[in-house]
Amino acid sequence: MQGTCDTCGNEYHDVMEITQGGQTYTFDSFECAIQELAPKCPACGVRIVGHGTERGGDVYCCDHCAG
Ligand SMILES: [Zn+2]
Ligand SMILES: [Zn+2]
Repeated sequence: MQGTCDTCGNEYHDVMEITQGGQTYTFDSFECAIQELAPKCPACGVRIVGHGTERGGDVYCCDHCAG
């Protein structure tokens, strides 16, 4: 599917669509999807791509940040 990336504005012939919270986003790469959608670790600011570590209702990137 032809489309334009919501993160970087790149026009690409094979974009992906991801729906989150009822809104649909268009991305040309996983990198751009992560940049737009992945939550940030409140301790160090890193994008949390995996399941992370939950503590007190917040999700942290690793045990070190959650501790
Ligand atoms: Zn992009
Ligand atoms: Zn962290």
